Amino acid sequence: MSGALGLYVHVPFCRTRCRYCDFYRVGENRARMDRFLAALARELDGCREWHGRRVETVFFGGGTPSLLEPDEIGDVLARIGRRFALAHGAEITVEGNPSDLTRARLEGLRAAGVGRLSIGAQSFVDRELLLLGRRHDAARVAEVVGEARTAGFESLSLDLMIGIPGQTDGSFAASLARALELAPDHLSLYLLEVHQGSEMDALRRERPGLFAGEEAQRRRYLAMRARLTAAGYRHYEISNFARPGAECRHNLRYWRCQDWLGLGPAAHSFVDGRRFRHLPDLEAWLADPLAVEELVADPAAERVFLGLRLEEGIDPARLEEAGVPPDEARRRLARLSGFIELRDGRLRLTPDGLLLSNPVLAELLR
Ligand code: SF4
Repeated sequence: MSGALGLYVHVPFCRTRCRYCDFYRVGENRARMDRFLAALARELDGCREWHGRRVETVFFGGGTPSLLEPDEIGDVLARIGRRFALAHGAEITVEGNPSDLTRARLEGLRAAGVGRLSIGAQSFVDRELLLLGRRHDAARVAEVVGEARTAGFESLSLDLMIGIPGQTDGSFAASLARALELAPDHLSLYLLEVHQGSEMDALRRERPGLFAGEEAQRRRYLAMRARLTAAGYRHYEISNFARPGAECRHNLRYWRCQDWLGLGPAAHSFVDGRRFRHLPDLEAWLADPLAVEELVADPAAERVFLGLRLEEGIDPARLEEAGVPPDEARRRLARLSGFIELRDGRLRLTPDGLLLSNPVLAELLR
């Protein structure tokens, strides 16, 4: 047994398919969900190598975990408690679609021990939600936030999206203002990614004028950062803002390269310097939920790549550990000035660097 773990549970079922989706998911089907839960129990019982380790966070992601019944989530948590040392005060998060989060389901999830809800709002403009292929409307998000507070959730997070087809600076600002009125503890704001061959890609070819260019996305991102930091949120990671103390402890484990174990099809793990995954194939995982594919890990480079996503940045010595000699590091940092800065002894991305993080980090570590 060694250090603490986070557990990620991938629940791959969705009722409908969002137009922008690039996650591993399959259609909702009760019989398959029952088989999924039975295989998840086998995986939790069978991963003996990690049993007994302290678990500080559990994150049910997907897919749409809110399609599971609260007592099913409760059973998974009880099994985790039998096989691992589930920490007192562990952060337990469920991602949810506002349409599924009825008052009864919210109360059930809270009673099952879930303390944190991540609500996929995406926008507060119904026309934009329609174009994304979401199955909820803006009014439902506000109701869910109120009902979740009444149910006693400790922490609520809202997801919003920049670059939705038809979105304007004004409609994005209105969505952000509505989100702020609801006073979430945490906000995740993602740039819409259009994946080749997706429905969104087809829409972009048909109606390119609906899509924001890079400059508009930059403007909205920087305006959002200014607005949220003025409202008391800390921009602690490229896409994430939190009230002090409400940062997502589970996701921080990813960026700080701390150990986590992924359960369910397509889930990745990083434990004791090993990186591995389950194949994105529900039937293969159901047949053998303990089968994993080993992946190449380069923890030193990952500590730079992932650590720089965080506002806390990294110790500059990490660059040498990642194989960049000091002279070369100085040259690269000079070339990237304006995108990375040394502040209070830590290397950090500047606001422009946050927007262009992928090419900037690739240049730093090439
Ligand atoms: S809810 Fe999430 S996983 Fe499911 S289709 Fe929409 S984006 Fe994809």
